Amino acid sequence: MSVKSIKMRFQLKTIVLATGLGLLINSCVTVRPAATTVRYPDLNRVDNLALGNPSGASTSDPNNYLISRSQYVLSYNRSRGIANWVSWRLSPSWKGDAKRSDNFRPDPEIPSGWYAARTSDYTNTGFDRGHLCPSDDRDATPEDNAATFLLTNIVPQAPRHNREVWKSVEEYERQLMTNGNDVYIIAGASGSGGTGQNGYATSLANGKLTVPATLWKIMILVPAGSDNTFQINENTRVIAINIPNDQLAADKPWRAYLTSVDALENLTGYDFMSNLSVDVQRIIEMRIDGGNS
Ligand code: MN
Ligand code: MN
Repeated sequence: MSVKSIKMRFQLKTIVLATGLGLLINSCVTVRPAATTVRYPDLNRVDNLALGNPSGASTSDPNNYLISRSQYVLSYNRSRGIANWVSWRLSPSWKGDAKRSDNFRPDPEIPSGWYAARTSDYTNTGFDRGHLCPSDDRDATPEDNAATFLLTNIVPQAPRHNREVWKSVEEYERQLMTNGNDVYIIAGASGSGGTGQNGYATSLANGKLTVPATLWKIMILVPAGSDNTFQINENTRVIAINIPNDQLAADKPWRAYLTSVDALENLTGYDFMSNLSVDVQRIIEMRIDGGNS
């Protein structure tokens, strides 16, 4: 064998080896598309919309109208007379011993000339004034608690839904917080037509307020912390539910209504957690979390 052919064989082997190594590295990269832990230093932990604005709400669209206050941020729908969604963060700093205000009242942030719901719109309708952001999530100060009684944060809710099954979810939120999580929550009202104490209805106040068909909620668990840095990865827990606005829905426990974020994105047309990478969204939005504590 000539020196030349040995050299050539050696070169060929090197090429084959290098190509193999390249494929190996490539396949590693494709198997693990996202780093196991993604830090989001640009997100502001105290921002009620830290994970994104699900519907791109702004003050230029009356049916996706952004109302922003320190206690929560919401998208209001002028045609429906209720919110599309409300987004807030639950952490111990929002908890205290302020008394429940019970002062339901029109939201002064609704532009003049638009109808703003009044507390009497709900009287004797067979539907409760149901909070999206719960009163008990905001009781550090009387002002914080009073903000949850603005009627843009309220929807016509079947009484048993409000007082039984939905209330259990609200208690679960606070249990998650007690267990060391900041809980980012988005709650909303979809469709029209619910069954309250006096039967089925699609609207209240001569059509001004839509009775939603379902109430849904997404809870995203982030380890509590004092800086603004998030750590969200494919293991981040996200609990999603969608519960029909019907007295009989309360016959089942809330965990009977578990769903995925993907299902809620299909239902609403929104993009939840849009501030996260698409890789992380894809993984955590398809999962159905069992809602354990
Ligand atoms: Mn309630
Ligand atoms: Mn999404």
